[in-house]
Amino acid sequence: MPLQQDLAVAETEARARPRPSVALVRGPIVSRLRSVNNEATPSIAFAYISAYIAARGYRPTVIDAIGEGLNRMWPLERYPDYQCQGLTFDEILARIPAGTEVIGVAAMFSGEWPVTRDLIKLIRARFPDALIVAGGEHITALTEYSLKDCPELDLCVRGEGEHTFFEVLEAHRAGIDFSAIAGIGHRDEAGAYRQNGALPRMRDLAALPWPHWPDGYMEKFWTAGKSYGVQSARDMPIMASRGCPYQCTFCSNPQMWTTRYVLRDVDDLVAEIESHIKRYDITSLQFYDLTAITKKPWTVAFCTKLIERGIKLRWSLPSGTRSEALDEEVLGLLKQTGCDYLVYAPESGSPDTLKKIKKRVSLARLTESVMAAKRLGIVVRTNLIIGFPHETRRNVFETIRYGLYLAIRGADEVSINIFSPYPGTEIFAELQRTGGVRLSDDYFLALTSLNSDFTSLNPLTVNPRMGARELAFYRIGFMLLNYALGYLVYPARIVRTARYLFGSSTSATVFEHRLKDMFRRGRQAT
Ligand code: SF4
Repeated sequence: MPLQQDLAVAETEARARPRPSVALVRGPIVSRLRSVNNEATPSIAFAYISAYIAARGYRPTVIDAIGEGLNRMWPLERYPDYQCQGLTFDEILARIPAGTEVIGVAAMFSGEWPVTRDLIKLIRARFPDALIVAGGEHITALTEYSLKDCPELDLCVRGEGEHTFFEVLEAHRAGIDFSAIAGIGHRDEAGAYRQNGALPRMRDLAALPWPHWPDGYMEKFWTAGKSYGVQSARDMPIMASRGCPYQCTFCSNPQMWTTRYVLRDVDDLVAEIESHIKRYDITSLQFYDLTAITKKPWTVAFCTKLIERGIKLRWSLPSGTRSEALDEEVLGLLKQTGCDYLVYAPESGSPDTLKKIKKRVSLARLTESVMAAKRLGIVVRTNLIIGFPHETRRNVFETIRYGLYLAIRGADEVSINIFSPYPGTEIFAELQRTGGVRLSDDYFLALTSLNSDFTSLNPLTVNPRMGARELAFYRIGFMLLNYALGYLVYPARIVRTARYLFGSSTSATVFEHRLKDMFRRGRQAT
């Protein structure tokens, strides 16, 4: 019987039952001991989920180990090369209210899975009767594996989670089984794995309540100087869209979100921004979208609305954007409305690689857009990757040459990372099929801090022509040259970095943000 009918049959009885008590738990950040890591960001996923279920009568308790334990590092006895940042396991357990009936655990990054799994086991031991549900990118990519690897986990919510998690709560409340809920993975009574239906996607983002940020939550990030991308005094996460229409083979988003791309209504988005100004007096907006700006008419409408409403804020796109919609006219509007930091993600400077990884981007168009942004005074970062499985040295040198060209022409930061196969991506599936990747705790943990630990070689290098040492040599050599060139060709940046480092609560680039964070931690340690 379909879920809706089941719910209708059970409705009268269920209405008499109280809603189950719910806790949402995010574990600590996991990183290698020597990594340069500043990835503590507010959980916009929890802000959306808790708003969605609260609008339907639930009162979730949010335990965010990262937000509640910023800059607190602790060692992992079981994995001695790694450390955690955030609340300890005991502190997390102590904050889950006694008698909680449903516990939702975030499992976003595959690199953190062994630690998340260990946390779930401890939660199960403390709450033997609770329904334990996990969701996030890792869970979506490896649902069956996660359920097998962690028998203490009851249910997985796959893909976009708000409505599916709500249906799980309602089914639990009504006392009916979960088998008809689309978008979940679970074990049936015989213990066999079951995955229900295609990934459900929201069509009407206006039906989503605005994210709910608990009192005092954002303030902790601001006090600790933590933000996504560059930093200002009071940065607010925001999302203008869901999904991405592209299908890059190294990215897990097509599997997590499908290729449906939905933009929010501009009026609704701007109303949310105004509510943050009123409540928090925010200084900047950081867009957490996968691909924030792909449509020129939407972007023009958004900027026009900001101008009409007299909104004056810094804003940035730290997660990477496409360049198609960013012509001189749009960039002018971005600058006029306070956008001061853009991340472009060409990924490669090799046309051959771009074709193979299905990154549909025109390098000429992207370069033009970067130059236009620089002329307008916008700080620009570009992201590149080397070491894809198919790549030759020629492909890698093309990317390095392109990166250096961008640096000389004025891009403020050009990062090069070494490719690693992430679960949920097309390349990962192919490598798994051919035996090039084997799932294990070592594999997962190696995924964490891959590009922020400069003292170790990447153990997940899968290029058959170039080893980890050679790729690390190219990467580090490039980065040194890139920053040296940046400061030599544009000496004014030396003053800017010094000013931000020693005398301000803001930063213009991620490099400056990381340096500030290291200094801050160093000061705290002494
Ligand atoms: S890499 Fe970016 S453009 Fe490509 S699929 Fe992922 S989010 Fe979309």
